[in-house]
Amino acid sequence: MSQKTKIPFVDLVTPHVQLEDELVSVFKTTLRTAGFIGGPMVEGFENDFAKFCDSPHCIGVGSGTDALRFALIAAGVQAGDIVLTVPLTFIATAEAISQSEARPDFIDVDPHTYTMDPAKLRAYLENECDVDRNTGRPTHRKSHKPVTAIVPVHLYGQSADMDPILEIAAKYNLMVIEDACQAHGTEYFSKKENRWRKAGSMGHAAAFSFYPGKNLGACGEGGAITTNDSEIASKCRMLRDHGQSKKYYHDVLGYNGRLDSLQAGILRVKLQHLSRWNNERRECAKRYNEMLAPLGASIAVPHQPSWSNPVYHLYVIRSTNRDDLQKHLNEAGIGTGIHYPIPVHLQKPYASLGYQRGDFPVSEEAADQILSLPMYAGLNAEEQQHVAGAIAEFESAFATR
Ligand SMILES: *Cc1c(COP(=O)(O)O)cnc(C)c1O
Repeated sequence: MSQKTKIPFVDLVTPHVQLEDELVSVFKTTLRTAGFIGGPMVEGFENDFAKFCDSPHCIGVGSGTDALRFALIAAGVQAGDIVLTVPLTFIATAEAISQSEARPDFIDVDPHTYTMDPAKLRAYLENECDVDRNTGRPTHRKSHKPVTAIVPVHLYGQSADMDPILEIAAKYNLMVIEDACQAHGTEYFSKKENRWRKAGSMGHAAAFSFYPGKNLGACGEGGAITTNDSEIASKCRMLRDHGQSKKYYHDVLGYNGRLDSLQAGILRVKLQHLSRWNNERRECAKRYNEMLAPLGASIAVPHQPSWSNPVYHLYVIRSTNRDDLQKHLNEAGIGTGIHYPIPVHLQKPYASLGYQRGDFPVSEEAADQILSLPMYAGLNAEEQQHVAGAIAEFESAFATR
């Protein structure tokens, strides 16, 4: 391949061109029925996506951030609560906690899986909290605020280690809201239940995003909540629609957070291809692993524990020369990304929480070293060879410097 080869970080054109006739017919149906908000397209997609996630309820909403916020509020999170999540995530995870008027507090991630470290979650609850005898829930010793929920993030399409997280949550009477925004179809093997479980079916509720670049993406904004709790489901249905259970009869203050019918119709078409696309991503990941193996320890490939069947929303490697490597790949026409360069506790909007560099060292070190390579269904072996070749070229030049 020539030096000019352009390998994009993500390809959002090809899948839509392949499905163009079906997608255009969704648009025509929407126009001809004027079914723009709610109706059979939204309900049809909600039913299909609930089934896909092994969850009894699905509520379509305006975005993944809406999904997280509504799920937290519906699960009973209140102003002044502490909700625990990870620093290595998209800021929306923490934003949704703040928007539900709770305060995010952070549990560092595992250095290999980049998801919430259950041992550190346990240590936080044991060492920094007292258990309130009335509620059975922990109270943060320093701030006297109650801890009421945990938001584990299934980052890069790999599940958090849910067995211990769910066990700790049950012990402390905490709600668990999965951030499954990068994990449509992700599976986790529960030793406790001796079966594979789908992301979105394990916590009290889960949030999905259908932002265009996600494994299941709309042609615009979209999101969904899945839950096995019918009370949380009906609360989320009200919250997305101005708190009304019946038109113009408002029971609670809600939001304008509905999923467009057009997007629901598009998502329903694309959902039929999601399992195949996820399998193609898994094959791409396997090929990258093999191609990068000869580079040894200088490039760390994603760690996949035996309990994990990820959907590789992102394929993230690790290098101590990340910035130079990214520059080299960019010059070779290879698109890359960093997810995410600044951990949430060090982002400006959270300066008031008073965290410093050093507070969550595993997330901070990862943020300095991670690099997301091109990854999408349809990425072929030849293109991947070009990526791997460019990385090898950089590494050998670096080694002889
Ligand atoms: C994309 C994403 C969100 C937010 O979803 P939006 O649809 O963009 O609001 C939240 N959390 C994670 C981990 C995400 O990747």
